[in-house]
Amino acid sequence: MAETFDHGGGVRSVRVPIPDNPLGYTLVYVVDTDRGPVLVDTGWDDPASWDTLAAGLTACGTTVHDVYGVVVTHHHPDHHGLSAQVREASGAWVALHAADAAIVRRARETRPERWYAYMAAKLAAAGAPEAHVAPLRAARGRRTLPGLSPALPDREIVPGELLDLPGRRLRAIWTPGHTPGHVCLHLEEEHPGGPAGRGRLFSGDHLLPGITPHIGLYEDPDDATVTDPLGDYLDSLERVARLAPAEVLPAHQYAFSDAAGRVRELLGHHASRLAGLLALLAEPLTPWQLAERMEWNRPWAEIPYGSRNIAVSEAESHLRRLVKQGRAEPVAGSEPVTYVAA
Ligand SMILES: [Zn+2]
Ligand SMILES: [Zn+2]
Repeated sequence: MAETFDHGGGVRSVRVPIPDNPLGYTLVYVVDTDRGPVLVDTGWDDPASWDTLAAGLTACGTTVHDVYGVVVTHHHPDHHGLSAQVREASGAWVALHAADAAIVRRARETRPERWYAYMAAKLAAAGAPEAHVAPLRAARGRRTLPGLSPALPDREIVPGELLDLPGRRLRAIWTPGHTPGHVCLHLEEEHPGGPAGRGRLFSGDHLLPGITPHIGLYEDPDDATVTDPLGDYLDSLERVARLAPAEVLPAHQYAFSDAAGRVRELLGHHASRLAGLLALLAEPLTPWQLAERMEWNRPWAEIPYGSRNIAVSEAESHLRRLVKQGRAEPVAGSEPVTYVAA
């Protein structure tokens, strides 16, 4: 039995499971339009997830064959995974922001060897010990990599523009940070329940009620731009707070109100995290050493391999921000490079 929920005003959601993941499920939103339902995200590419999505659409009074369009908040596989299959079943268009579409294009073109080599070089530069980097070098011969053949979108989501939802008003709000092309979607119609605020916001992974989304470096073997994803994210948080939606419909967990209050919490969280890191940088540290000393949801020794890569990326995005603010600086001549409070 698919779990669906009616949010009112022609918006429903389907809980599409993410296999072996503590997040549990992606909330796929089904928005009625004059031409058939439009989905916000599709869910993880897995047979059981597909069956749940199809059953959920049937429970919503439609079918997967009737989908008119798919709006994808960002390229991650728990959001964009089933887009190709939905398009195949229905002929729907699939829309993604250009920056995430570029990642999808490059992911499809990048050979696994190249990707592993890139990750190995990146981790070595961050000061990862040889024992951590070695398995990546050994993995180069592997032929497939999960999430590396995502669907190419048919349409571009242009920030500030209304999307093609006949009879509805859904506007794209660019919210880079979690990914460079992450978007929130603002349903500008009045909330059916009539609470204070302006419409409803599909927030993807940008704004979640009880989780801080991962903010790491934008990973792209072909792009040497020194980006500041955490800076982007904090700006994007303020952007959605200014919208003042009556309700937020996130891609995980549950719907909530008081977007501005949640934004304040997240801004406070990152401010204190940055201050904590700055205190650690009283001595020069590589990003890896910084990650080892940061506070996580469990001791560093218990953090599994893949999560350590994510943790280092998160440490690096915070370092970038501190450097950009002039609060920390790289130590000249250090190799791998270390950082110290300015
Ligand atoms: Zn995500
Ligand atoms: Zn997600």
